[in-house]
Amino acid sequence: KSDSKSKVPEDGLFPEIIRENYKGSDKLKGKKALISGGDSGIGQAVAVHFAREGADVVIIYKESDDDAKETQNLVEREGRKCILMKGDVSEKSFRKKCVDSLKKDWKTLDILVNNAGIQFPENDIKNISDEQILETFNVNIISMIALTRDLLTLMKKGSRIICTTSVTAYRGSDHLIDYSATKGAIATFIRSLATNIAEKGILVNGVAPGPVWTPLVKETFDDLSSFGKDNPLKRAGQPSEVAPAYVFLASEDSSFITGEIIHINGGDFVGG
Ligand code: NAD
Repeated sequence: KSDSKSKVPEDGLFPEIIRENYKGSDKLKGKKALISGGDSGIGQAVAVHFAREGADVVIIYKESDDDAKETQNLVEREGRKCILMKGDVSEKSFRKKCVDSLKKDWKTLDILVNNAGIQFPENDIKNISDEQILETFNVNIISMIALTRDLLTLMKKGSRIICTTSVTAYRGSDHLIDYSATKGAIATFIRSLATNIAEKGILVNGVAPGPVWTPLVKETFDDLSSFGKDNPLKRAGQPSEVAPAYVFLASEDSSFITGEIIHINGGDFVGG
């Protein structure tokens, strides 16, 4: 098994996808996982960790064929399959295409990672436009609920749903007004859905990252000099420090956990 992108430069700006010493122990052997936004950042790290643990993955991505191809290569280097699905999760026709193709090719789905997300920077209440509010809600939460509903027919007892929310769901954010509201909605969705489908034996949990070095933050913020510096650990995290939580939530190790959210943020948020 080969490692990828394991050297983190001093400034932390280069995302580390998987730690050099992350061995994997077949925790997800033979599982099939779909990861939205699995081409980049946290989703890419989740795809590579899942592959190292023995899972095949389908990746939904919006734009960058290069990123998607890179992820596919990294997954294939682990000896696992990686199917790429390019499109916009907020479009009903694309979601239908994904669900139909999974029904045909895989027939079952063991793990759904709802991770695709967008943000418009510097969106305080004065700047925010109707179009941006709609787009942020469509991509981050509305499509998440719809895609989950449509994929449930492929899931069975023991399947897992893991949604990416954010520390902003709890702390709020004065410059990401719409984004933080969608993340709050995701946290509530996790708890509601967990109760709703508990009787099917499908577990629903979430991960709430704090600041993490990914293309999302590099592209959306002009000044990253203070990014992540105000938490107790005084730094932003790497995707490689977040992805193992998804492995835990997808594996047998978390068989008695549902409706829960793991906070990974350098100690920034303490509470429930
Ligand atoms: P990223 O931009 O590197 O990756 C997100 C990916 O989502 C994109 O590459 C894209 O392919 C996909 N995507 C976006 N819009 C889409 C759409 N309409 N249809 C299909 N795919 C779409 O970002 P990231 O930082 O890895 O973010 C992943 C998740 O983590 C997001 O939900 C984000 O809100 C959340 N998050 C990130 C941070 C952070 O600091 N990076 C903190 C908290 C939460």
